Amino acid sequence: MWFGWLVGFIIQGVIWGFATDAVVNNKGYDENWFWWGFFFGFIALIVALTKPECHSSYDYQASSLLSQVAQEESGKRMLRNDGWNCQCGRVNPSYTGTCACGRSKDMVNEQKKKVEEEKKSQEKLVEDNLKLDNLKKMKELLDAGAITQEEYDIKKKQLLDI
Ligand SMILES: [Zn+2]
Repeated sequence: MWFGWLVGFIIQGVIWGFATDAVVNNKGYDENWFWWGFFFGFIALIVALTKPECHSSYDYQASSLLSQVAQEESGKRMLRNDGWNCQCGRVNPSYTGTCACGRSKDMVNEQKKKVEEEKKSQEKLVEDNLKLDNLKKMKELLDAGAITQEEYDIKKKQLLDI
């Protein structure tokens, strides 16, 4: 009966279709080969099997990750060898005077110095305020009669560094 033959053909086609599609997808292709397998069966599967591997997107990710790691490593090495860290994030070897972004080594160093000085003066201000607070407390103690004038003077000398 032709009907039995048709059912057999469809079942076989589905099996070849899935197999062919699976092979192609496993090779890294983002293509649907189901219908090639369905209609051409064995031939489609052979064609699929002879296709070259296609994992370019994975390879690309892996290589970009590797180059990133290599870049970081070379940056660390350069810093160890007196390299300098630019504000743009690049690490330049010590013999390079100007970064690829256009900033010069002196400019970056100047900027760093400025930031450090600002931080230092900020710290000094906090320290001075603390000293002043302490001195005020000592004055209160003196006024309350808890410490003598002599003790206050000693403490004052210590705090004001004179
Ligand atoms: Zn730079």
